[in-house]
Amino acid sequence: MGMTKVKKNKNDRNQSQEVYSTTTVALLKCKSYQLQNLKKQIAAGLNLTGIDPKIFKQQRVLLKPNLLMAASAEKAITTHPEFFRAVAQIVKSHGGRPIVAENPAITRLDQILPKVGYDRIIEEEGIEIGRMQETRILHYKKARKFKRFEISQAFFHADIIINLPKFKTHGITYVTGAVKNLFGVIPGLLKSQWHTKAPNAEEFSEMILDLNEALLKGFQPPKRFLHIMDAIVGMEGEGPGPTGRPREIGAIIIGENPIAVDYAAVKVVGLEANKVRTITSGLTRGLGISNLDEIRMVGEPMENMKIDHFQPTRHSIFGNLVSRWPFTSNTVRNWITEKPVPQPENCTLCLKCMEICPAKAITRPGKKGKRPAFDYDKCIRCYCCMEICPQAAIGLKKGRLQWMIEKTSLS
Ligand code: SF4
Ligand code: SF4
Repeated sequence: MGMTKVKKNKNDRNQSQEVYSTTTVALLKCKSYQLQNLKKQIAAGLNLTGIDPKIFKQQRVLLKPNLLMAASAEKAITTHPEFFRAVAQIVKSHGGRPIVAENPAITRLDQILPKVGYDRIIEEEGIEIGRMQETRILHYKKARKFKRFEISQAFFHADIIINLPKFKTHGITYVTGAVKNLFGVIPGLLKSQWHTKAPNAEEFSEMILDLNEALLKGFQPPKRFLHIMDAIVGMEGEGPGPTGRPREIGAIIIGENPIAVDYAAVKVVGLEANKVRTITSGLTRGLGISNLDEIRMVGEPMENMKIDHFQPTRHSIFGNLVSRWPFTSNTVRNWITEKPVPQPENCTLCLKCMEICPAKAITRPGKKGKRPAFDYDKCIRCYCCMEICPQAAIGLKKGRLQWMIEKTSLS
């Protein structure tokens, strides 16, 4: 039936508790954000995956959308507000208490809600806003590397957590879906600091998996997670921020295992799962799935869902690999990895990029400068600046040797 019990070592903190994660994934075809249709499809998906919505009764059900930054729903940067409303209404209709919880990149949750079209819904549906600023440490001592995460209190106060990711491409993790969306349990600028602790694509993906493991096994008692992905309109190209392009995918993907949900999304858009480290390494981590064959797809057949010519990110996997070698100097890094380069014609000098940069590589422009100054020797290529720039004013420029190396090594 696709049900996997996440086995717990007797030394685990939660030895008296069972953690379950089913590897059943429901694929639903959905072409619009019309509320009644969304509710119908999401309810059908829950039913298909064997999730009884009666579990919401009298529970504090935390809804975790992707609200990366202030952006209208059409830009496909954020989980669509009607998608959020549909899930909130389902929770309420089964006696649950929905709470919205998310940590945008640099803005406080209460400040961003009107800018992403959530404020009216929250008021109309009587949804509580989670307390995101107060933090608490989530420990998981058996994690591979990072055993402690400072996360918002709101997640400790929930009985059930419903993750509502938007499916997008991502410069570091290749795609962002259910696994990566849970990075938003960490408050705003603390998130960007993780890029200095895990400064390349591989380490960053492993850190995200450490966090997922902590969320699954570190709470006492364990919390139940559901993942309901908004892939109706996703993002291709240089996601996950304004430099990416909205792309109709027409899918809602539901499951209890975030790796299985992400795998289904990657298959729908025709990307290679082996380029997504959070999937490949995720299978080795006791997160309820150890083999992709364990995934039981239900609902719409995959062949009816697949779309063509979905554009992945242009970020270089080769550059990321080379940049993690310990002997890689700044000069070599500058030659072989893409640089984030601000374009003066689009830049409004809002300096949000400077605010988020974890490496302090961005400074104010000189007196007549029309864009902030980037120090590429300090830059760790986390691309947070690109992700957050509201004007999509930061482009990628390939390193001097990159064209040549990629051509001879990868083609
Ligand atoms: S590059 Fe973008 S984020 Fe940075 S100052 Fe210019 S507009 Fe603002
Ligand atoms: S300049 Fe941009 S890519 Fe470089 S470290 Fe700062 S935020 Fe990351």
